[in-house]
Amino acid sequence: MAQELADRRDVDFVLFEQLGLESILENEKFSDLNKKTIDLIITEARNLAIKEILPTNAVGDQKGCRFENGVVRVPEEFHRIFKLYREGEWIAMWDDPEVGGQGLPITVATAIGEYLTGANCAFGMYPGLCHGAGKLVELLGTEKQRELFLGKMYSGQWGGSMVLTESGAGSDVGALETSAVKNEDGTYSIAGSKIFITGGEQDLTENIIHPVLARIEGAPEGTKGISLFLVPKIKVNDDGSLGESNDVVCTGIEEKLGIHGSSTCSLTLGGKGGCVGTLLGEENKGMRAMFHMMNEARLGVGIQGMAMGGAAYQFALNYARERKQGKSLLQMMDPAAPPVAIIQHPDVRRMLMWMKAYVSGMRSFIYYVGHCFDIAAMSADESEREQYEGLIEILTPVVKAFCSDRSFDVCTQAVQVYGGYGYIGEYPVEQYLRDCKITSIYEGTNGIQAMDLLGRKIGMKKGKYFMTLLGEMQKTVGQAREYPELVELAEAVEKAVNRLGEVALGLGQAAMSPKVLTAFAFAEPFLDITGEVVMAWMHLWRAVAAQPKLDKLVGGLDSEARAKKIAKNKNAVFYDGQIKTARYFINALLPEALGKMDGILAVDDAVIEMDAAAF
Ligand SMILES: Cc1cc2nc3c(=O)[nH]c(=O)nc-3n(C[C@H](O)[C@H](O)[C@H](O)COP(=O)(O)OP(=O)(O)OC[C@H]3O[C@@H](n4cnc5c(N)ncnc54)[C@H](O)[C@@H]3O)c2cc1C
Repeated sequence: MAQELADRRDVDFVLFEQLGLESILENEKFSDLNKKTIDLIITEARNLAIKEILPTNAVGDQKGCRFENGVVRVPEEFHRIFKLYREGEWIAMWDDPEVGGQGLPITVATAIGEYLTGANCAFGMYPGLCHGAGKLVELLGTEKQRELFLGKMYSGQWGGSMVLTESGAGSDVGALETSAVKNEDGTYSIAGSKIFITGGEQDLTENIIHPVLARIEGAPEGTKGISLFLVPKIKVNDDGSLGESNDVVCTGIEEKLGIHGSSTCSLTLGGKGGCVGTLLGEENKGMRAMFHMMNEARLGVGIQGMAMGGAAYQFALNYARERKQGKSLLQMMDPAAPPVAIIQHPDVRRMLMWMKAYVSGMRSFIYYVGHCFDIAAMSADESEREQYEGLIEILTPVVKAFCSDRSFDVCTQAVQVYGGYGYIGEYPVEQYLRDCKITSIYEGTNGIQAMDLLGRKIGMKKGKYFMTLLGEMQKTVGQAREYPELVELAEAVEKAVNRLGEVALGLGQAAMSPKVLTAFAFAEPFLDITGEVVMAWMHLWRAVAAQPKLDKLVGGLDSEARAKKIAKNKNAVFYDGQIKTARYFINALLPEALGKMDGILAVDDAVIEMDAAAF
């Protein structure tokens, strides 16, 4: 049966056969869970995604959000699925049951997130923001703030947002001008104009709780003077009931390239002097507060990208299996030869293999980062915890930027597989292409992620975290060497890992030399090749998980008998597919990254030296 959104067999493979989720489930934190319950939960999420949410994707895109007299109307179809989402308690999947969460491992939540987001990314922003803003309340809120807001946000009764951007403060959040003045009762009067606020206004929830960045009167310039406030759309009384309007006014929504069902709002706060917020965390520590959220939010954007790229791949694959066009290359001269499904053509197979390699590599990568979050949260061993926290630090900008960029490329390739049909709105992939683009822009543009990796992350703890990452890759290389069939692949990956270490050192040194500007002109290519080596690592790891299983099914046979036996066994086809995908990625695509590494290490000054007028 054709798979939709994400291949369930592959999802299970990553969770249980690659990452060994069962060992995480042994932790007492997850004593209510086992493989069977996880299977059931993922099945439930998948059904919700495919049967209920996916049918709203195109219609949400066509109808978009409407702005009517200060109110934003989301596509009607979103109301029903939001209710189902709430009833299924999908908003706070991995949070502690004590605060209203489902208590699932984050690794599992990433898999569920892939289905739910791939089904309709624009819709997914609303529940996602209930959670993201709620998490800030959970981590930084006073007892009173938690009591008033948290349960209602994690259950989706009240919505959330993230209110940072202003027209003069985009990537440079420190330039913001929204002000906060302390009142006698300890609250703050907020005044300012914000733009591009996702879910800043919508009609799905009775209230919206806005975490707002603003500067307290007299606070230092730049990021050091920014504080975070909780600003409800409708004031909340001490007993939790709704009070009067809080002077948060939506002045318009944006017309956008994609995610039409997600409202992107301009907000005026305190236009009539009546907007009141409470401090979340400490004064002037707003940026640090946002950092609490960043790793999770950036993982979330990586999931969005991968989920859309993955869905586009799945649609393209199903189409390529059905669309008949042209004869087999081997029967070109035979006028009576029948047309074949386009999946038979070598060039279409190349496109599908390219997409499969990136989609499955990114799936492994993203679930692995979820797995790092789980281990960091539950490990009793301090050095292990630090090791995984270090991996999260290094991998977060890569997960956000590499996965969003490559997923967009996957969507482009999906359009290509469909041919002309891919370019028209009747088929789903053009929407995925448009919707996916935003993932490389918001939550810190990919250029900003690359600067974070080069300027902050690789040098963290004198490079220890980056070395940890390379060490983890080398462990997989060592495991792969135990299988004769994988030795060559292991050697190729080892060479790339070593070269990545050299490039990090070379570029890192350049970044601390007079060539600093040139070094940062190569920050994005450096992030990109880091992502490529991570892909190679993930594919080798997949091959290590698949090889013994395949040997068990078809080992000891000559190649003809083996091929015949593989064709008859679904599992053997799957495992053989893992090894062939690893072979393709490592032999055909990884060398491109090695070439790019040479280009980076040359640290050529042209980009910086050329006069701006010459562009
Ligand atoms: C659909 C949508 C939804 C959004 N949702 C939200 C939201 O919910 N909340 C919120 O607060 N914001 C939101 N944003 C805003 C988003 O986070 C910003 O657009 C983004 O951070 C970039 O800021 P900017 O648009 O001002 O671009 P700019 O900062 O002007 O950047 C323009 C270009 O310059 C580059 N650049 C800028 N500074 C540097 C630098 N120092 N070094 C190198 N390169 C640099 C950038 O990488 C980019 O390529 C949303 C935006 C959109 C379009």
